Amino acid sequence: MGACLMVARTADDTAATRLAGEAMRHIEAHGPSPIPRAYEVWYTHVAGRNPMLSKALATELAEGERLDAGAIDRLYDQFLSPNRMAAQAEKASLGVIAEIDSVMSTIDEALGSTTRYGDSLKEISDDLAVSVDRDLIRDVVARLVAATRDTAAANRALETRLKETRSEVQDLRQALESIRTENLTDPLTTIANRKHLDNTLIAAIDHAALSGEPLTLLMIDVDHFKDFNDTWGHLTGDQVLRLVAMSMKGAVRPTDTAARFGGEEFAIILPQSSLQSGSLVAERIRQTVMSRELVKRSTGEALGRITVSIGAAAFRAGDNAMMLIERADRCLLQAKRAGRNKTVLETEVEQDFSDVA
Ligand code: GH3
Ligand code: MG
Ligand code: MG
Repeated sequence: MGACLMVARTADDTAATRLAGEAMRHIEAHGPSPIPRAYEVWYTHVAGRNPMLSKALATELAEGERLDAGAIDRLYDQFLSPNRMAAQAEKASLGVIAEIDSVMSTIDEALGSTTRYGDSLKEISDDLAVSVDRDLIRDVVARLVAATRDTAAANRALETRLKETRSEVQDLRQALESIRTENLTDPLTTIANRKHLDNTLIAAIDHAALSGEPLTLLMIDVDHFKDFNDTWGHLTGDQVLRLVAMSMKGAVRPTDTAARFGGEEFAIILPQSSLQSGSLVAERIRQTVMSRELVKRSTGEALGRITVSIGAAAFRAGDNAMMLIERADRCLLQAKRAGRNKTVLETEVEQDFSDVA
C-alpha cells in the first residue's frame, strides 16, 4: 500500500515537473516574463486543463510571437482568477454606470442646445429689427418667428420629456449603485464583506507586486466570543460584532479596507503600510475595543468588556492572497496561544514559519 502510494506520487511528481518545464519553455519563447500569473496561464495550457484558455491563448499568439503582460492579465482574469465571476459582474455594472453617465451627458447637451437655439433666434430677430429695410425684414422675421414657435413648442415638450428621462436615468443609476454597494457589504456590520475583501486583496497584492509599495494584512478575532454569546445571547453578540467593526472603521484610512472575514473574524487590508505601521493600527483597534464598557441596551445591565486578538503579516514578493491570509492567520493563532488580547506580528513568529517551510 505504502509502495503503491510512493509510485503514484513519484509518477505525479514526474508529470508535474515535466509540465512545469514545458510551461517555463513557453514563457521563454513567448513571454512575457516568469511572473506567477504567466506561469499559471502556461501551466494550465500545457496540462490541457482548460481548452477555452488554450483557444484564447492561440488567438492572442496569432497576433504575434510574444505575449505581453496585458495579454497574460486578460487570460488570467478571464479563465483563472478565483474571482472572475464577481469581477465580470463588477465590470459589467461599472460599464452600465459609465453608459448611463454618457446618456446623461448627451441629455444635458441636448437640453443645452435647445436653449441655445431659442436664444440665437431671439438674437437674430433683435438684430434684424434695427436693419434698414425695416418693413420687409420685419415681415420675414414675423413669419420666421411664427414658424419657429411651433418648433419651440415641440422643443419644450421634448425638453420636458428629456428632463423626465434624465431623472428616471438618475434613479436607475442610484439603484444600480446601491445594488453594487449591497453586494459588497456585510449586512450586520455594514463594513465590507468577504467577497469585497477577496477582490480588494487580490488587487492590492497586484499593486504591491508592481509598485514595490508595502502592504499589510491584519486578521482580527473576538476573544472567547462563544462564551459571550452563551451568556448574553446572540443578539447582544451581534451588537459586539458591530462595535468591533466600528472600532476598526474608526482606526483606518479611507484607502484601507476593513472587512468581516466571517463569523466573529475580521480582516483589514492596509495598502502602502509597513508591518510596523500596521501594528500601530492593530494596537489602536485592540485598545479601543477593550476600553469599551459594554451595556445591554434594553436593560442597562453591565456586560463587562470584550477583547480581540490580532495577527499581522506583510506582503512578500511571490505572495498570493491565500498565502498572505494564512501568515496573518498564523500570527492570530499565536496571539490566542499567548493568552489573547494581543497583537502578534509575523516578525515575532519568524521561527515558527521557518519550521513549517
Ligand atoms: P477564541 O478566543 O479562541 O476565538 O474563542 P471563541 O469562543 O471566540 O471562538 P469560537 O470559534 O469557539 O467561537 C466563535 C463564536 O462566534 C461561535 C459563534 O456562536 C459566534 N458567532 C459567529 N458568527 C456570529 C454572528 O454573526 N453573531 C453572533 N452573535 N455570534 C456569532
Ligand atoms: Mg474565530
Ligand atoms: Mg473568537
